[in-house]
Amino acid sequence: MNTHVVRAACPHDCPDTCAMLVTVTDGVATAVKGDPDHPNTAGVLCTKVARYLERTYHPERLLHPMKRTGKKGEGKFEQISWEEALNTIATRLKQIAARDPRAILPYSYAGTMGVVQGESMAMRFFHRLGASKLDRTICSSAGGVGIKYTLGAKMGMDTEQYEHSKLILIWGGNPIASNLHFWMRAQEAKRRGAVLVAIDPYRSLTAEKCDHHIPVLPGTDAALALGMMHILIRDDLLDHDYIDNYTLGYALLKERVASWTPEKTAETCGINAEEVELLASLYGETAKRGDPVAIRVNYGVQRAHGGGMAVRNIACLPALVGAWRHAAGGVLLSSGETYPKMDKQLQRPDLMPASDKPTRTINMSTIGDDLLRGASAEFGPAVEALVVYNSNPVAVAPESAKVAQGFAREDLFTVVLEHFQTDTVDYADIVLPATTQLEHTDIHATYGHLYIVANNPAIAPLGESKPNSEIFRLLAVKMGFDDPCFQDTDDDLAAQAFDAKHTHAIHFNWPRLKQDGWMKLNVPDAPFAQGGFPTPSGKCEFYSEQMKQHGLDPLPTYIPPYESAASAPELAQKYPLAMISPPQRNFLNTTFVNVKSLRDTEGEPYLEIHPTDADDRSIADGDMVRIFNDRGSMVAKAHVTANARQGLVVALSIWWKKLASDGKNANELTSQRLTDMGRAPTFYDVLVQIEKA
Ligand code: SF4
Repeated sequence: MNTHVVRAACPHDCPDTCAMLVTVTDGVATAVKGDPDHPNTAGVLCTKVARYLERTYHPERLLHPMKRTGKKGEGKFEQISWEEALNTIATRLKQIAARDPRAILPYSYAGTMGVVQGESMAMRFFHRLGASKLDRTICSSAGGVGIKYTLGAKMGMDTEQYEHSKLILIWGGNPIASNLHFWMRAQEAKRRGAVLVAIDPYRSLTAEKCDHHIPVLPGTDAALALGMMHILIRDDLLDHDYIDNYTLGYALLKERVASWTPEKTAETCGINAEEVELLASLYGETAKRGDPVAIRVNYGVQRAHGGGMAVRNIACLPALVGAWRHAAGGVLLSSGETYPKMDKQLQRPDLMPASDKPTRTINMSTIGDDLLRGASAEFGPAVEALVVYNSNPVAVAPESAKVAQGFAREDLFTVVLEHFQTDTVDYADIVLPATTQLEHTDIHATYGHLYIVANNPAIAPLGESKPNSEIFRLLAVKMGFDDPCFQDTDDDLAAQAFDAKHTHAIHFNWPRLKQDGWMKLNVPDAPFAQGGFPTPSGKCEFYSEQMKQHGLDPLPTYIPPYESAASAPELAQKYPLAMISPPQRNFLNTTFVNVKSLRDTEGEPYLEIHPTDADDRSIADGDMVRIFNDRGSMVAKAHVTANARQGLVVALSIWWKKLASDGKNANELTSQRLTDMGRAPTFYDVLVQIEKA
């Protein structure tokens, strides 16, 4: 028997980007473990990826190219050869491109976070084609823009430092489910005496284990941050030296937050004034004692109308109290922009053909509406071809009924690269089998720590599956694209991924990284201890001239949800309950829903509802209920629990639609309205009504 261990990386849309060790015996992967030497992974994988072999060797893996034989959405296909598949795609894309290549749209996101199998060769292909661009907004762009206005970039604390913090605000996330290795640090901090506070409408697994839980109404986090700032200033819990030297606009901020009394804040957030006082005093007084205070803000807070502003406001807090002076103080939303990624080199936007037609960008969050749009001067050509990879839009994009209607267009040519027959694959004309992480090369940045992680192929591709990079290489040949960059191998792409001369990645060397498995970026422990923010002023910007120029309020403010009793009272009379749909612990977006052992753990789609709200509707625990609004409906089993605060229902997600009893999931109810900044979806800005099914 020939057994060896291969260094790999978890590819999934998770901030932790674990370093993995894959044991291979005679060409078969037999074990997947977390690398015990990688400081962030510490030998631990989450429950999902611990089952990676079950996913990789799943009997329903797509192993051959297929073409559609039934109606769109029926999911009936027959096997074809790669030659036939590639020729069919190239013929159709050439016909459309001859009229207007902008009628072709790529659709992709973070099905893999890898640089090579993500947006490198694929983007070269679409740039060379002159296709429409995709605005990749579906998850994080609102918060990303918000934090950049305040801090200058998506960067912040090193996750490894949280264990030294004395107070941690876990804001808008459930790290036990979706940021496990941060949670391990937070628990270590707690063992060392730190206080943990969860700020979340939902009493999640994480909130249950924290010292305090502040259950704000969805979409009101910006108001809570304003109320905290009011109290910090009122009680002089400030670091005046830090404010004077490293921030911009304090006097204007002070004026702005003067009206945000604890009472007003509490009323806006649906909590009580004592909770606001407690939170602000814990934060300010811990910092005043000279102890490090930390915030881990996550993407939950930015899935409502004012989501960008909410993150911006929260990001102002550490500078007020001087938290950045400590390595274990500050805030982290994402470490993504710490990496010196070489996007232009990888994606080659210079390949775009010269054209008299303006380039066009379509927002992935409004794909439902945009697939149903005809040609117009304003929109450009109707979308005639979609190439979907690393994404499952029929299940994950908002206002799902419209998305499915768009995908069902008989005149739309749809190609899907996938591992499994997802809800989206059911609408494909051509299906191409893609390799999983164990079968291809990749290199990973992350958005939750500071390591570059390598992924070596552990086993040969199963069946006839191919890496995304190879599929786009082959398609480029069929299209007649002879630019030398289409001959770059996956190793070539990985070697181009980061700027090896950049101070953060001074030792980046792909051949060495492949052997070592991971390397840490060269970043100082307390990056903003003496200012140096990458904003236009070099300071933490309480006042942002850039925001003013972009037509936004230049100061922290509160933008209420689109759908709430305060902002839309008539709608709230009809649909009085707010709904959020955060990740189920054993799923990662829609990945893993078809892994039987994980789905069995989750059972079936359910809705958590407060006992009072359930009583009002004569709903008992275990009843099947219909959740509905003007956009659609879904059926789920009621879990009557105080984990959902009164006025809120929680539909943990994201189920494959076809694996639910009614063929629907929570995105039947979500809207295509966009956030205040970043053009992102408002998944947690939803009002619904519930009745017994
Ligand atoms: S999903 Fe996250 S926690 Fe789980 S193995 Fe992957 S990176 Fe680690």
